[in-house]
Amino acid sequence: MELVSIQSEADWLARSAFVPELRMTLDDLQGILSGYDLPRVSGSKQGVVRCGVNGCNRLHYKGFLLKLKDGRETIMGWQCGARDLGLDFKEFQTSYVERKRQADQRAAVAAAIAEAHLLAAHAGTLVEPCREALEYLLNLRGSLQRHTAFWDNLKAVAKMDGRVLRELKRADERSSAKVDVVEAARIHGLAVLFGDMSRRVSDITYTAENWPAEVAGAGRGPPSELKSTLARARKMHETVRDTEKFIRDYSTLRSAIHGMWAVHHFQLRRAGKSNALRRVLERFAGQEPVWAD
Ligand SMILES: [Zn+2]
Repeated sequence: MELVSIQSEADWLARSAFVPELRMTLDDLQGILSGYDLPRVSGSKQGVVRCGVNGCNRLHYKGFLLKLKDGRETIMGWQCGARDLGLDFKEFQTSYVERKRQADQRAAVAAAIAEAHLLAAHAGTLVEPCREALEYLLNLRGSLQRHTAFWDNLKAVAKMDGRVLRELKRADERSSAKVDVVEAARIHGLAVLFGDMSRRVSDITYTAENWPAEVAGAGRGPPSELKSTLARARKMHETVRDTEKFIRDYSTLRSAIHGMWAVHHFQLRRAGKSNALRRVLERFAGQEPVWAD
């Protein structure tokens, strides 16, 4: 029997088989879909919480949603249920709450497993792009680190969300500050160059190859394992999301490589122009870069 959750009258009024009034005996009863226990509306006798069984028509804020063998559904107050059908409301609610909890948990795990299979297939398509991004970024990092002063400045710029600042002399000499600081350029995605990349490829590869079996296996285990199954599914989700972000950041940075020249130009201008650095940036930009001047 399906278990229904009732939070308000609207929940049973929305059901297509619901009938507000009918006549029945215990023989007509197929089962109980739910108990309900709604807040009392003080002073109101106009509520729709009326017992629909055998002409009772009284207000019962506590009772049952019943299903009949002929398919119709109706509500019955808990006292009428005890008198006409021998139903114990308290006993029913206790077992109902527990059965509902278990059913909800099983449904959540089944959904997590189904999603895990989709995610694993998607994760499989991320392995190659992730490998490519990692190789590119490690090479870029290795090449740029040799230009120590530039690298340190780049790191500082990354901490400022990629903003390259330039100091401009003020025309107005009477002003207390002699320079204005303006944003000369913005290098998007720069933070990815300073992040921890070491486990990217192994994490997403492991996710693509092993998670579906692990999660599915846990889903067949005892109820105590359900919680850890959900936690694993969430972890898998996280890995896929992080990998997608990594690949996105990589492609953002790759198309913003030329902006790095601005760091050299505006923040290291006393060090003079480095042709070696320029060649490195040109190589990694993979195209004729537009240098900021
Ligand atoms: Zn009644």
